Amino acid sequence: MHDETRLIRAGAKQPLKARTVGPAVQKGSTVLLPNAEALYDHSRQTYGREGLAAQRALEEGLCALEAARRTFLYPSGLAAVTGAMLALLRAGDEVLVVDSIYRPTRRFCDHLLARYGVNVRYYDPLASAEEVMALCTPATRLIAMESPGSLTFEMQDVPAIARLARAQGIATLMDNTWGAGLTFRPLTHGVDVSVQALTKYVGGHSDVFMGSAAVSDAGLAAQLEAGQLHMGWAVTGEDAYQMLRGLRTLPTRMARHEANGLEVARWLEARPEVLEVIHPALPGARGHDLWARDFTGACGLFAFVLQPAPEAAVHAFLDALKLFGLGFSWGGFESLAIHCHPQLGEREHLARFDGPLIRLHVGLEASGDLVDDLAAGFAAFEAHG
Ligand SMILES: *Cc1c(COP(=O)(O)O)cnc(C)c1O
Repeated sequence: MHDETRLIRAGAKQPLKARTVGPAVQKGSTVLLPNAEALYDHSRQTYGREGLAAQRALEEGLCALEAARRTFLYPSGLAAVTGAMLALLRAGDEVLVVDSIYRPTRRFCDHLLARYGVNVRYYDPLASAEEVMALCTPATRLIAMESPGSLTFEMQDVPAIARLARAQGIATLMDNTWGAGLTFRPLTHGVDVSVQALTKYVGGHSDVFMGSAAVSDAGLAAQLEAGQLHMGWAVTGEDAYQMLRGLRTLPTRMARHEANGLEVARWLEARPEVLEVIHPALPGARGHDLWARDFTGACGLFAFVLQPAPEAAVHAFLDALKLFGLGFSWGGFESLAIHCHPQLGEREHLARFDGPLIRLHVGLEASGDLVDDLAAGFAAFEAHG
């Protein structure tokens, strides 16, 4: 054979040399089939988009995490929410969405779902399960929950909503990024589709985008699989490998995020600049009873309400922070802070906050250093008071 041909064939048949702890990171769009008949044998994998060794290993790990029969991977957390919704809904359907849903999910509902003829209505995150069910019409096909709610941390009675919805043949979906599938397992509480942004705690290092949708029901699994096929979603082996690496240490990291977060939250509670700490795992906080009933733990994400102050004072507080980065997203090893009000404008059922709302992600740093950082922020805040 000529050089051109020899170099294209060389090394292509090397078997795996040894078993490693992690899966092989296979790079491949094309999957080679053993014979002509296999090309159109739909019981086998015929294309790389369906995922290779690392993707399969991650799916298996996430099924173990979520107590799921099938888990589907999407290239971002948002794609997991929107992909699952598109797979389950059709024109003429109605979806009830919790008003405290992650804002980009709301954008998708208001623009894309609306454009495709799905009616979207938002319900009060503090509504009881019965009140949510009273909003359902014969067209209601899906209830989309998130608990605690994005930015404002309202807790929902997820098991009750899931139970009542199932009795009426309405599917439920929960964005469980805060619980990470670890401190709350939606499927074991009767939710049909458990979605999370793996980008956050499962990844844990603020460097990979991915999302997952986990289900137990075979019919729903078939719908999600078809949705994935039609939309063409795929994730790379490298990214799946990184996610699997994060999954290995998820419980260890979460325990530290929880402990650190609660230490910072308790310190904030005692500060004169702080009106209220909104952390579901903090005794006495809004939503604590539902959290204590349903969750086995917490993460490092919560909010607090500052004393009423001009925007310049809030900016001075944030700008004085050195350990807390100013940035969106969360779930990584590092601490982050944002002010929330600019994102709350579209809400129809916003709870009252008597001052500016700040969200913190407490990372894996030493909590004493984080508290010192916040104290410096409060000094700058007071200087503008
Ligand atoms: C970040 C986030 C998402 C989206 O995840 P991406 O991977 O950033 O697309 C979805 N839901 C919630 C609650 C989130 O916080």
